Amino acid sequence: MPERLFVCTPSKLGAYTDCPRRYRYSYVDRPAPPKGPPWAHNSLGASVHTALRNWYALPADRRGSDALPTLLKGTWVREGYRDEEQERAVFRRALEWLESYVDTLDPDQDPLGVERVVAVKTAVLAFNGRADRIDSRPGPDGPQLVIVDYKTGRTGLDADDARGSQALALYAYAAERVFRQPCRRVELHHLPSGTVAAHDHTPESLARQLGRAEDTARDIIAAERAVTDGTDPDEAFPVSPGVRCGWCDYRRSCPAGADAPAKEPWAAVERALLPADPE
Ligand code: SF4
Repeated sequence: MPERLFVCTPSKLGAYTDCPRRYRYSYVDRPAPPKGPPWAHNSLGASVHTALRNWYALPADRRGSDALPTLLKGTWVREGYRDEEQERAVFRRALEWLESYVDTLDPDQDPLGVERVVAVKTAVLAFNGRADRIDSRPGPDGPQLVIVDYKTGRTGLDADDARGSQALALYAYAAERVFRQPCRRVELHHLPSGTVAAHDHTPESLARQLGRAEDTARDIIAAERAVTDGTDPDEAFPVSPGVRCGWCDYRRSCPAGADAPAKEPWAAVERALLPADPE
């Protein structure tokens, strides 16, 4: 019998790479252990992403920055903030980011896709993921596709982040096959600083990232099979403690996470209220 393909998204692969135990809590254990409270930074990221998606859904002649307050209000996710005062301050900051950002966009230019799902199968993976935006831009040999990912964290990003992002590379690999057009460029658009970190992949560098994703999938399949064959799940999916434990949804269920200092759900957005750090 042929092996079943490993169905995955970038976040599923990333969860295992970060910490096999977190992967197990998220995708294997049923019922899953209880998660901690919602994070304000996730609410902020979701609100900004949806507002931008809805901005592109407007007719081109209404795509101005004056549309943004209504759009952001309509998509605002309220969970995780310390209090209304903090939530209002973050709303104002997010609106400033969006206003500056859409000033850099051509309202007459429709992307090829906004929050577009792209999927591809390889010998090991059935990959699917939702790219924030896929642009079609003129290149020396005809149109070429660009993967755009919006970022709302405080810290700026550089070309190494764009180059090293497995998610962006997999989106590019999949988009190239879905649309049958070259897709080598990936960009991280950091809204707080208004900077763009970009990388131009080659077919070889995309193949390397795909190979790493397939290796991760094989490791996950092997760990799941080991559990089926009787290995202790704690051994098959070991903990990988580190600074990320403080931000882990399963910190309270995890023996390693119990030692990590707890973060308040609004800790990251508190930093968003400080001036953006380009470093
Ligand atoms: S608390 Fe840390 S070690 Fe435990 S699952 Fe989360 S990231 Fe992994």
